Amino acid sequence: VIEKGTPDRAVVTTCAYCGVGCAFRAELRGEELVRMVPWKDGKANRGHSCVKGRFAWGYAQHRERILKPMVRASVDQPWREVGWEEAIAHVASEFRRIQATYGTRSVGGITSSRCTNEETFLVQKLIRQGFGNNNVDTCARVCHSPTGYGLKTTFGTSAGTQDFDSVQQADVIMVIGANPTDGHPVFASRMKRRLRQGAKLIVVDPRRTDLVRSARIAADHHLPLKPGTNVAVLTAMAHVIVGEGLADEAYIRERCDWDEYQDWAAFVSEPHRSPEATEALTGVPAADLRAAARLYATGGNGAIYYGLGVTEHSQGSSTVMAIANLAMATGNIGREGVGVNPLRGQNNVQGSCDMGSFPHEYSGYRHVSDPATRAMFEAAWGVPLDPEPGLRINNMLDAATDGVFKGLFIQGEDILQSDPNTTHVAAGLAAMECVVVQDLFLNETANYAHVFLPGSTFLEKDGTFTNAERRIQLVRKVMAPLNGYADWEIVQLVARAMGLDWNYTHPSEIMDEVARLTPSFAGVSFDLIAEHGSIQWPANDKAPLGTPTMHIGGFARGKGKFVVTDYVATDEKTGPRYPLLLTTGRILSHYNVGAQTRRTANVAWHPEDLLEIHPLDAENRGIKDRDWVYLRSRAGETTLRATVTERVAPGVVYTTFHHPATQANVITTDYSDWATNCPEYKVTAVQVGLSNGP
Ligand code: SF4
Repeated sequence: VIEKGTPDRAVVTTCAYCGVGCAFRAELRGEELVRMVPWKDGKANRGHSCVKGRFAWGYAQHRERILKPMVRASVDQPWREVGWEEAIAHVASEFRRIQATYGTRSVGGITSSRCTNEETFLVQKLIRQGFGNNNVDTCARVCHSPTGYGLKTTFGTSAGTQDFDSVQQADVIMVIGANPTDGHPVFASRMKRRLRQGAKLIVVDPRRTDLVRSARIAADHHLPLKPGTNVAVLTAMAHVIVGEGLADEAYIRERCDWDEYQDWAAFVSEPHRSPEATEALTGVPAADLRAAARLYATGGNGAIYYGLGVTEHSQGSSTVMAIANLAMATGNIGREGVGVNPLRGQNNVQGSCDMGSFPHEYSGYRHVSDPATRAMFEAAWGVPLDPEPGLRINNMLDAATDGVFKGLFIQGEDILQSDPNTTHVAAGLAAMECVVVQDLFLNETANYAHVFLPGSTFLEKDGTFTNAERRIQLVRKVMAPLNGYADWEIVQLVARAMGLDWNYTHPSEIMDEVARLTPSFAGVSFDLIAEHGSIQWPANDKAPLGTPTMHIGGFARGKGKFVVTDYVATDEKTGPRYPLLLTTGRILSHYNVGAQTRRTANVAWHPEDLLEIHPLDAENRGIKDRDWVYLRSRAGETTLRATVTERVAPGVVYTTFHHPATQANVITTDYSDWATNCPEYKVTAVQVGLSNGP
């Protein structure tokens, strides 16, 4: 099914699944893709891969792929196949009609972290230059937007501090709210190699992930916190570090704002923030927490890696900043082997954020209200630009239900499945007059679309992806687009139909424009990436070949900023009716909502999502392994099978979200991060009971 014979040529390209960014040789016989072989010279993977990148590419030629544009006057009518010219003209005229009727800000768009940097840049440019507003957001909103906010605030740059190689210099590895074995398998292997060499390991996670104990790996400390208490745990660790004199004051005086440090130190030192005082709240034994804090502060190079278990909370941004505070307090920023490293979920989530996909920022994280930056873009693009930040995804949906937002261009994102509170998303989409979905398959969101533009896979285009270590790598066309156009060409067609003078002939020209307009990308070009295999931004006059480790000698913002991060309990509470806490995650063989991997042989490894429940909670409810159970929250209900396991603690249940039948986001709530609106996917109060099945 997967490997089809002897190849006669190969094209090196980059995996389109997770943020590790493995490089592959796509081997072909004639025009047919035969197999994907991990590339030994790939800087992020060095010849390794996982079952997704290696085997799960057959979706590109899946029979359910849509290859012709389709339109319909209303969502209760059947789709009508049309030619590209008619579809593009329809999109342009609908957006112009809506803006003429309801105003400039009545339309917007969503970029995709699955698409290339160049495609993402063009979508946000279409909205800013063509639509005349800043109503652009990205699927990073629902995963790592708190990383952007938290690391920019504390360090000055919205990105991880290290390259993957750095883990080889780490003495203490702290993994918070991440399960790299399933989510970032190739990097997990490198981490495990370092652990087998003797590095110490702290795991902060409500669940006993594979890292806590598996073959030849055992965490030195597992802090099994109650979901939602990250900030309290990190503050208690800081309490120990400051209280026991373990802070690196020489580093702090030299590299950080000393007055802000003192304010923070006084805050964390308050007695009610100690491990003992917060033990009942967090569920973490005080002695374990003290030991973990001492190890991180005194064990040599301390490297923190974190995932969505940090960001997808009402205190996601606070948690990112609490992590940054710990790293600065112990001098663990600015050299190899240390750092604060978000493990990015999607292949290009770093890149989509870098390219200006947020409603308040141009490429390179510069605020739209900054006159000098805006003037630079206005000069380049030849139009006045809106100085007001635009709407986030959830605000667009709110505005739609209020009747003032009417048109949405969605590239490569199934917001009905991936965003919280499905009912709210559906209501917002249903209230719009023109929803354009550009994707590979008729996804759930397309049920509310008026135009469907077939998308292209990563195998059918040139471009770049930027992985979790800021590494920009080439994506090379392996086969001609089955739909006729790469995604960047489709965006250009829409722009031209709207009257914009776009004449890109290759994605390298788009990257050249990014480089002209973005100081941190000033030295980036396709030629340079090809010559060196990859480039890690910032890459400019100061660092012509890129920057593997950031903040050496000084933070990007000048002095590192300590931020007081007070623990605030989520409004999502357990109680007699909803006594358990649901948290969610991924499994190795699948990717996100499964649109690609479910259409490959990988589906056999994980044909359904299961609900993990502790034996005590299962026994109390008469639930046995493989029983059907209902999972009910204040927001909604779904049905799935149970697996009884001690991987979760009593009081906590867990599921993956790779199959539409699970509808995990029917369960999740409307609560979100206070700074970025990243949804609180990781904490939902639920009840669980036996069911007869779906
Ligand atoms: Fe590498 Fe991630 Fe692709 Fe697996 S999914 S091959 S770890 S980039």
